[in-house]
Amino acid sequence: MGRNRYAVLVNARVILAFVLFAVSAPSGAGPGQGSGVDIAPSGLTAVFSSQVRCPEISSPFASRTRYDGSNRPRSAFGGHHGGMDITLAEGTPLLSLAAGTVVAKGTGGMMEGNYIWLRHAPEDTGLKYWIYTKYQHLDTQSGLELGTAVALGQAIGQSGKTGTVGGHYGRAGYPHLHLTVRKGQSGDQEVGDRGSMSNMQLIDPLQVYHDADRGTADVARHVSASEVLVPYISTDGMIVPTNTRVVWPLACQPVSGS
Ligand SMILES: [Zn+2]
Repeated sequence: MGRNRYAVLVNARVILAFVLFAVSAPSGAGPGQGSGVDIAPSGLTAVFSSQVRCPEISSPFASRTRYDGSNRPRSAFGGHHGGMDITLAEGTPLLSLAAGTVVAKGTGGMMEGNYIWLRHAPEDTGLKYWIYTKYQHLDTQSGLELGTAVALGQAIGQSGKTGTVGGHYGRAGYPHLHLTVRKGQSGDQEVGDRGSMSNMQLIDPLQVYHDADRGTADVARHVSASEVLVPYISTDGMIVPTNTRVVWPLACQPVSGS
């Protein structure tokens, strides 16, 4: 199915994205090939404001490797990463990347840990589609009840390493946020096990920031269509740009003197 999608979507941006992937892919198959799951690199890269320091991506969406350079197991998504990882000290506040609603939470097994799912309507994000976001490896279960409305940038839990201890990462585990984003055309999706969400496409979280771009002056700083200037909330509470409805899932630290 990958080839048909590419035929339909061919335009300058997709060609550029594909070329970037082809150049950067470590080895082996193309996007999604052989995985049986629709995971293709977006070709997008994150660009952060020089005014702040933000926790950055340690293993991007669709990557074949973990943050430490090791290969991902083929058992999950054919070895492609289903979300993005950000390495973090345990206990770091995790922020809702948009206004939304808590629709599920729980404790999974290995590679999942404590998780929370949020649902974001088009009115919440400015996107033309619904998104569901899943934050994994929380240190403890989120205290938010199901059905709770959350605001843009609200803390919805704290980072941890649950679900990472004892496997590839050994006894020390790997403290990080794994963020999954699924895209759908309605807000009545059942969330839970992977199978029940098979009609919802896994997308690169950077796609959300790309598609929600509000056309601010900062956009002029984009040097190419493949770069996404990441909107954020700072540790002192500033939302940049002020009219954004999506933010990075972690607060960014202002750089002193800037
Ligand atoms: Zn991950």
